[in-house]
Amino acid sequence: MTNSITEHSIREVIVKDISLYINGQFVPAKTGETFTNVNPFSNEHINNIAAGDIEDINEAVTSAKKAFDNEWKNLEISERMKYINKIADLIEEEAEEIAYLEALDTGLPISQTRSQAARAATNFRFYAKMVETHLHGQAFPVEKEFINYTLHRPLGVVGLITPWNAPFMLETWKVAPALATGNTVILKPAELSPLTANKLAEIIDKAGLPKGVFNIVHGFGDTAGDALVKHPDVKAISFTGETVTGSIIIKNAADSLKKTSMELGGKSPLIIFDDADLDRALDATIWGIFSFNGERCTSNSRVFVHKKIKDEFIEKLKERVANIRIGDPLDASTELGPLIETQHFNKVKGYIELAKEEGCEVFQGTVPEQFKAGNYVPPTLLLNATNDMRVCQEEIFGPVMAVIEFEQEEEVIAVANDVKYGLAGFVWTQDLTRGHRVAQAIEAGMIWINSHNTRDLRIPFGGTKASGIGREGGHYAIFEFYTEPTVIHVAIGDHHIPQFGKKS
Ligand code: NAD
Repeated sequence: MTNSITEHSIREVIVKDISLYINGQFVPAKTGETFTNVNPFSNEHINNIAAGDIEDINEAVTSAKKAFDNEWKNLEISERMKYINKIADLIEEEAEEIAYLEALDTGLPISQTRSQAARAATNFRFYAKMVETHLHGQAFPVEKEFINYTLHRPLGVVGLITPWNAPFMLETWKVAPALATGNTVILKPAELSPLTANKLAEIIDKAGLPKGVFNIVHGFGDTAGDALVKHPDVKAISFTGETVTGSIIIKNAADSLKKTSMELGGKSPLIIFDDADLDRALDATIWGIFSFNGERCTSNSRVFVHKKIKDEFIEKLKERVANIRIGDPLDASTELGPLIETQHFNKVKGYIELAKEEGCEVFQGTVPEQFKAGNYVPPTLLLNATNDMRVCQEEIFGPVMAVIEFEQEEEVIAVANDVKYGLAGFVWTQDLTRGHRVAQAIEAGMIWINSHNTRDLRIPFGGTKASGIGREGGHYAIFEFYTEPTVIHVAIGDHHIPQFGKKS
């Protein structure tokens, strides 16, 4: 079964086999090995991908180090930003093809991959502006004796390791600040979603960046990813993915004392009080769990509904769930597509079976017969859930939401926090005093009041507890992660210097 290509502008795209991108060249893996890339809509083969390993990582690091030392770190900021803005221009020009490739590769609906492509271009523009206008140091005058000032210098070669759930946006969210601040990059994209990473390599190649500044090594986590994490010349690893993988990476990065940034899993609560604007809360709840096919780190996979409005809200949820448009990811009207791969599909279906065993009533939409070859899990509500169930504690990462009743504010805060994760939280109430109070009590890195998960590039993005260490975004990316503060102490007077050994 092939996808229906609905837009004229994407009919011409021919998907070829994919190479690594090292030192400005598209090259095969040194072992000659490849792996297959599969379409989640049909489970048919799309193309073959070069399987990079330790030798490819070594070569990429050597070229990135050379590019850093010889050219990139010394480039005037205005020159560097020309490249960064050029990448943004090219992403905009090729946005439709990027959206198509991403939908084909991941099963994400094309209406959503289009907005992700636009956001990717914005990531480059934002960091170009940010570095030009805000990457400055501080000065600390000390009486009439010193002036001490700080510089924020790039780290050198950085390794970026990314997941498959919003691949192009997440890759650019790391690549843009890393390059803009003057680092050189090795990207190890997720093995399940290589198409748009390769497109990024083509775009960067077209933008004419100096050889070795940007490199991609496709391959598996325990080979290419592992070698990148352990390489002594890689100064930092920015990782987005599962919590268990993050923990392995921190351990492996320790021997070479690398800086790491961890954006990990989530099991985020959405709390709806009885005075909330129910229609807006309903829109946000549905979008928050069923967009990105439910494969979203900040999804509201646990919704806590006040007892007084629970029955009414559940009726509304059921009506929406039954009507969500399940379809071909390449069809612009599709709201929910297939999950990334069969293994993940089986995992999510396993959790739905577990929910029944744990005592939930399961309510689902229906997958149309013609889509049975794909990894489709219908939108699913787990009703009568309690927070202690495994389905409420473990990240399912699919279109599955547990609905839990509550009565008291203190009670809902306690159960919302009774989970190992702490990425996001959402509060719906017309009582803003309560809204702030509850938001401030939720143990998470990011909380929204009366809002769905909107994005502000300037904020610190990330989680607490098992959802991460460190933050991405805005000032945090450029000051706290991708640069190193250096202090220069300058004597401006004859301050006292002890004179050991001097004859008095
Ligand atoms: P994953 O951890 O399986 O893989 C992520 C990346 O790590 C892949 O590129 C993989 O090849 C690589 N990897 C795996 N093992 C490795 C190792 N030992 N050394 C080095 N690299 C290794 O995650 P996934 O299944 O691709 O993504 C889904 C997960 O990502 C979910 O848990 C989701 O919540 C999380 N996520 C978090 C955020 C956030 O901002 N907090 C955003 C998106 C996704």
